[in-house]
Amino acid sequence: MKEPKISPPREHKVARRSFLKGAALGSVALALPSRDADASIWDAFFQKHFREMNDKELKKVLKRLEQEYAEKYGVDIDISANKPLSGVLFGYGLDLSRCIGCRRCVYACVGENNQSRDPQIQWITVLRFKKGDKWVNDLENADKYYNPDKVPEEGYFYMPTQCQQCENPPCVSACPTQATWKEDDGIIVVDYNWCIGCRYCMAACPYGARHFNWTGPGIPKDEINTKTHYLGNRPRYHGIVEKCTFCIQRTRNTPGRYPACVEICPVGARKFGNMLDPKSEIRYCIENKRIFRLKEDLNTYPKFFYFFAT
Ligand code: SF4
Ligand code: SF4
Repeated sequence: MKEPKISPPREHKVARRSFLKGAALGSVALALPSRDADASIWDAFFQKHFREMNDKELKKVLKRLEQEYAEKYGVDIDISANKPLSGVLFGYGLDLSRCIGCRRCVYACVGENNQSRDPQIQWITVLRFKKGDKWVNDLENADKYYNPDKVPEEGYFYMPTQCQQCENPPCVSACPTQATWKEDDGIIVVDYNWCIGCRYCMAACPYGARHFNWTGPGIPKDEINTKTHYLGNRPRYHGIVEKCTFCIQRTRNTPGRYPACVEICPVGARKFGNMLDPKSEIRYCIENKRIFRLKEDLNTYPKFFYFFAT
């Protein structure tokens, strides 16, 4: 299939990424902002790494981004940047015996996390398997495009996949600019202003969990979720990579709140919580169900646990 053409850098964020990408790929064609560029363009160009910014610097960056989004989308977008809470390590459970393959989780995730509608980006993929098949690790050849009149279908079962929030994430070690990393609460995040779009992380991820923005995201203005997190659902840019963050804007900003996919699931197939809390539902599942993790042989140690309730 012919890959969509990427147009030349247009925005100052892109100028900085082009510069870094040139450096990462050993190119000498480095794109600096012009000498008479606006001050905010230089501010963006020299933005520090998220983890190195102090509170004042971070506040300034968030303000600049909110202004940029307001100009671009014509709506006020609130960007939070809450840090991980101590004593929290998030984990996720999925009960395969309950999932009916309805894809409500997919669409709830799209809305909550400002995923592009056109072209479509979906962080959750629901796979369909025939009962009795030797299955789950062959994610690439599984049926993602099933489209029956009614679900669930006789003789099939469904397995939703998304970022497995690996404890030992190969995507992180593949990134040449440290634009992706593991936070203390276990969520693997991407800084969209540091990502250079080289897609090494996509090649390294064994779960197909990362998605590339071939164009800028197409989101109708009246459907934008304006409550966002810097490392989560704020609108992304052309030429960067994105993925599930366990709805960081919900689960970190409002402790105890579920990700959108957990909240929407009509059959309670999805479980989520703090694995360090012995009373949490996720901990109960891990301790009492017959759990397994995808591609365990790769030693990625996903914090995403599948099980059969019965
Ligand atoms: S919403 Fe629940 S039942 Fe429907 S596909 Fe997602 S996990 Fe399965
Ligand atoms: S599933 Fe892929 S993107 Fe997610 S943490 Fe693991 S390697 Fe990284």
